[in-house]
Amino acid sequence: MRLAKHVALITGGASGIGRESALLFAAEGAAVVVCDVTDEAGEGVAAEIRSAGGRAVYLHADVSLDADCANMVRVAQSEFGKLTVLFNNAGIMIGDDGDAQTTTEDIWDRTMAVNLKGVFLGCRHGIPALREAGGGSVINTASFVALMGAATPQLAYTASKGGVLAMTRELAVVHARENIRVNALCPGPLRTKLLMDFLDTEEKRERRLVHVPMGRFGEASEMARAALFLASDDASYVNGATFTVDGGISAAYVTPE
Ligand code: NAD
Repeated sequence: MRLAKHVALITGGASGIGRESALLFAAEGAAVVVCDVTDEAGEGVAAEIRSAGGRAVYLHADVSLDADCANMVRVAQSEFGKLTVLFNNAGIMIGDDGDAQTTTEDIWDRTMAVNLKGVFLGCRHGIPALREAGGGSVINTASFVALMGAATPQLAYTASKGGVLAMTRELAVVHARENIRVNALCPGPLRTKLLMDFLDTEEKRERRLVHVPMGRFGEASEMARAALFLASDDASYVNGATFTVDGGISAAYVTPE
C-alpha cells in the first residue's frame, strides 16, 4: 500500500483524472475526500470506494469559491483527522475559447476562476493543513499546453495552465523546508470528457492525434498512476517538477506517419 496512513483531497474527483486518482489512491490505502460540482457522479465515486472496502466521502466544492475551498479542507480534517495529499485537479475548457480576438472576456474570467484561482485557493487552505500534519504532497494539474503553443489556440486555457505551472514552482521553493513537496502534472491530450467535448468531431480528434508520437490519446488512469507516484514517498525528492506525461508530444519535432 503506497498511501497507507494518508488522507487525500482530490478536486474534480467526479470524472476523468480525478475519478481514476480517487479510486487508485483509495486502493493504495488513502482515505479520500472527493470534491466536485457534479454531485451525483461525485457521490458515485465515493460510494464505489466504500463498497470496495475503502474510506471516502464526497463533498460539493466549487474550487473558484474561497469558502468552498476552506470547507473542503475542514471536512478532510474532521472526517479523517488530517490532510497529507492535496490534488488540485479540477479544470474546465470552454468550447469557444480561441485566439485573442475570439476569446471573450467572460470566457477568460471563467477559465481563470476555475483553473488558476482554484489552484491558488486550494493551496491557500490546504497548505496550512499539510503543515499541521507534518508535511505532505501537493499536485497541481497543469497541461502540456503550459509548455508548448498551438496554432489552434485555446488562449484562456493555455494561459491558465501556464499560471498553474509557474505558481507550482514558486510554492515548491517556498514550502520545501516544511516537508511539503509541490509538483505539477502536465498531461498530454486525454480521452476524457473535457477534451472529447472540445474536440467534438472525428476530424478534430484526428487532427490533434497527428502531433502525438504514440498516435493515441492518453487515458485518465495513466495520469492517476503518475499522480500516485507524486503523492507517495516514492517521490520523496521530487519537488517543483514539471511532470510531463504526454505520449512524447513535447519531445517531438516531427511525428511518425
Ligand atoms: P473531466 O472533465 O473528466 O474532469 C474535470 C472535473 O472537474 C469534472 O468532474 C468537473 O465537474 C470538475 N469541475 C469543473 N469545474 C469545477 C469547479 N469549479 N470546482 C470543482 N470541480 C470542478 O476532465 P479531465 O480531463 O479529467 O481534467 C482534469 C484536469 O486535467 C483539468 O485540470 C484539465 O484541465 C487537465 N488536463 C486535461 C487534459 C485532457 O486532455 N483531458 C490535458 C491536460 C490537462
